[in-house]
Amino acid sequence: MEHVEVAIIGSGPAGLTAAIYSARANLKPVVIEGMQAGGQLTTTTDVENFPGFPEGVMGPDLMQRFRAQAERFGARFIRGDVQRLDLESKPIRVVFEDGELTCDALILSTGATPRMPGLPNEKELVGHGLSTCATCDGFFYRDQEIAVVGGGDSALEEATFLTKFASTVHLLHRRDELRGSKIMQDRALSNEKIQVHWNTVVSEILADEQGSVRGVTLKDTQTGDQRELAIHGLFIAIGHVPNTSLVKGQVDLDENGYIALPKSGTATNVPGVFACGDVADHVYRQAITAAGTGCQAAIDAERWLESQAATAESSASNPK
Ligand code: NAP
Repeated sequence: MEHVEVAIIGSGPAGLTAAIYSARANLKPVVIEGMQAGGQLTTTTDVENFPGFPEGVMGPDLMQRFRAQAERFGARFIRGDVQRLDLESKPIRVVFEDGELTCDALILSTGATPRMPGLPNEKELVGHGLSTCATCDGFFYRDQEIAVVGGGDSALEEATFLTKFASTVHLLHRRDELRGSKIMQDRALSNEKIQVHWNTVVSEILADEQGSVRGVTLKDTQTGDQRELAIHGLFIAIGHVPNTSLVKGQVDLDENGYIALPKSGTATNVPGVFACGDVADHVYRQAITAAGTGCQAAIDAERWLESQAATAESSASNPK
């Protein structure tokens, strides 16, 4: 079975940055890409907030550049998903679709998946008026009417942020009480540009002839009444699901289900296992922050491998 020093699971900004850094440290990393190679950015169109691209860059193009940079320094890529991990075995065992390998250090960068309401045309409309990231796409809706779905901190934060651009932000919440924190509620509810629609769910997203969002059909959860609302953009902010199914029961998770990390650094509770990007971050969730923690994870893994080698060397030269 092949053995490598560093294996990386996931190929979004975090995993690919970890690959660039560990390849340049001559650790010859192997990246198991996952079914959605490139991660969440491959489902977006224009990325205008990634530093270094003053004209903006398309999400898939940006991820292709990350990958090419990692390949240039010798990172190798395996297509498909990891099926099983054995973190207790030393070396760590990684089983994927077409085989398996062992590694000394493992970097988990499996990301998070935005929770979606499950409407029939939602997949096609992502990037065409339907978004899961206000920070990324809010700018495109200057002086337009838009809506945000959700009642938690993310929805309140996104709705408040979007008032910088939009003429009106309709906040669509399925209950008559918000879930978000008091301070975020106060901020959103006192904002004149935010109009809250209580007990309201989206029953249909309406698209124009070009295939872009033109409105939504709303349903009152109490009366069942339906009505149309014309909007140009719909932001879904009903939470994210961290992709932790591979490591559940093997690595400590925090109270939100994300991989638990110390205040500083990327080491999980399992020696030799590091985590970066959205799978360990429910707060920032940006490509640039994911890339930053990917860099940290590679440096942490490199230092950990060095410390292991130093320990092995000293016990070889000082046998008991
Ligand atoms: P969340 O707290 O789980 O809230 C999700 C919201 O979406 C809830 O209001 C929920 O409604 C609604 N929802 C869920 N599924 C839905 C569906 N299928 N259709 C319609 N509505 C649906 O998620 P979050 O807001 O992303 O926050 C996650 C965590 O991150 C929280 O701990 C939050 O405090 C934290 N966070 C913090 C900050 C900050 O401090 N700056 C910012 C963002 C997030 P119900 O209320 O009816 O369940």
